[in-house]
Amino acid sequence: MYQVEHWIDGKVVKGTSGRYSDIFNPATGEVQGKVALATKEELDAAVARAAEAQPAWAAVNPQRRARVMMKLAELINRDMEKLAETLSREHGKTLPDARGDVQRGLEVVEVCMGAPSMLKGEYMNDGGPGIDLYSMRQPLGVVAGITPFNFPAMIPLWKLAPALTAGNAMIMKPSERDPSVPMMLAELLQEAGLPDGVFQVVNGDKESVDAILDNDTIQAVGFVGSTPIAQYIYGRACSNGKRAQCFGGAKNHMVIMPDADMDKAADALVGAGFGAAGERCMAISVAVPVGQKTADALIERLVPRIEKLKVGPYTAGDDVDYGPVVTAAAKQRIEGLIASGVEQGAKLVVDGRDFSLQGYEEGFFVGPSLFDNVTPAMDIYKQEIFGPVLSQVRTDSYEEALKLVMDNEYGNGTAIFTADGDTARDYANRVNVGMVGVNFPIPVPLSYFSFGGWKKSGFGDLNQYGADAFRFYTKTKTVTARWFSGIKDGGEFHFKAMD
Ligand code: NAD
Repeated sequence: MYQVEHWIDGKVVKGTSGRYSDIFNPATGEVQGKVALATKEELDAAVARAAEAQPAWAAVNPQRRARVMMKLAELINRDMEKLAETLSREHGKTLPDARGDVQRGLEVVEVCMGAPSMLKGEYMNDGGPGIDLYSMRQPLGVVAGITPFNFPAMIPLWKLAPALTAGNAMIMKPSERDPSVPMMLAELLQEAGLPDGVFQVVNGDKESVDAILDNDTIQAVGFVGSTPIAQYIYGRACSNGKRAQCFGGAKNHMVIMPDADMDKAADALVGAGFGAAGERCMAISVAVPVGQKTADALIERLVPRIEKLKVGPYTAGDDVDYGPVVTAAAKQRIEGLIASGVEQGAKLVVDGRDFSLQGYEEGFFVGPSLFDNVTPAMDIYKQEIFGPVLSQVRTDSYEEALKLVMDNEYGNGTAIFTADGDTARDYANRVNVGMVGVNFPIPVPLSYFSFGGWKKSGFGDLNQYGADAFRFYTKTKTVTARWFSGIKDGGEFHFKAMD
């Protein structure tokens, strides 16, 4: 048993609330640790200290701030295995997947080594007679990040790297399910040369989140999590005058055209549907084949692939395809939704319920499930299952498939599998979803683009990482300057009366 506290002013600080939340090992079902849940007073004190530390950090020149990211990247690489093992132990994902979680965050750190070029303003010489205009990007001050359980390294890194290199101080409130990796990142930031107080980790639940939303010093809130909480945080942060970008849940569809390579499409669906036990906001949870023949061909290929999937603990090494879901409550919810799918008339082709693994009977494992003949009226279609469940919705035409995706309330990611460039191009142009894959199932943009969903998958107007992140974490100030005729016209030698 271990206790995770807070990281304040460059050191671990014990929580004072007396409230703790259990940290499970999802593979065994055991409580392995506890995490402190902060009070409003603890949160406010952490913010006050960050506000004191921020001006000196903002005064460090951008290149030197970026060097902290260079060092951080080196340290993350040094500690990759330690980070990945801790991540797997608290989250449950496999070790290769945990390394990927760290890696995709590290790539944003790498892009932030070039932060000075992102922080340059604009300049217009002689915008009027003798008038020059220039704009500068200045940090906001103290900003906050509130992150979900499913990417405990990647998403905190997506937030902290641009926020800090832009000259802000940051309060990070990680998920209480797997808080250890963000605490390790805080320690690495200190080792990389970040001054104490500039990055504070305040662990907690709704009480500390509400304290963030109501704290007048905090200028901006970056949230990632489920849609109802994203919408709540967006509303409360905005009404308190803060900048907010809040990314929510998803229901990602993959359209499979009759001319697609069916084996490749089936491989992609199995990886994108069941990888990380389906606990990815970019997981594909709905397969949308066009034409009955395509649908039959797909099911025929999916079933043997799904039956071969190996589900197990991360300690079993690279041989496991996916691990347990995050909590017993998540397992129960997923299995309840599978039951509702059966009751509402979908065809359960592969049933992942009652999955049991010898030696891990108390673990939160859910076997892979595949539904066919799903319709938009069913709960398994309407809700984000966030588990290893793939639903097939049959359509008769490309237009019907496109309409299905467009009518869905979520708009995080989508993919189309086809051999026809014209169809792919039309899909990418018309679909109302933020990230699109063409013969590519999980189109998480690389770190020099930016990440953001549409519709109920994202609230706010700027994406995460890339150039958008620097817009989000800075304010623009524009100066219009005129200098009157001065000393260059020569000195005054004649004594003049004052008039
Ligand atoms: P969650 O919404 O339960 O929790 C996210 C954060 O909000 C956590 O830090 C949590 O402590 C806090 N929180 C939870 N309930 C709260 C409340 N009532 N008031 C205030 N704060 C609260 O999400 P989760 O279960 O940790 O993560 C899974 C969800 O995140 C899925 O819906 C997934 O699609 C989504 N997600 C979205 C993206 C994206 O970029 N769009 C990325 C990853 C995950």
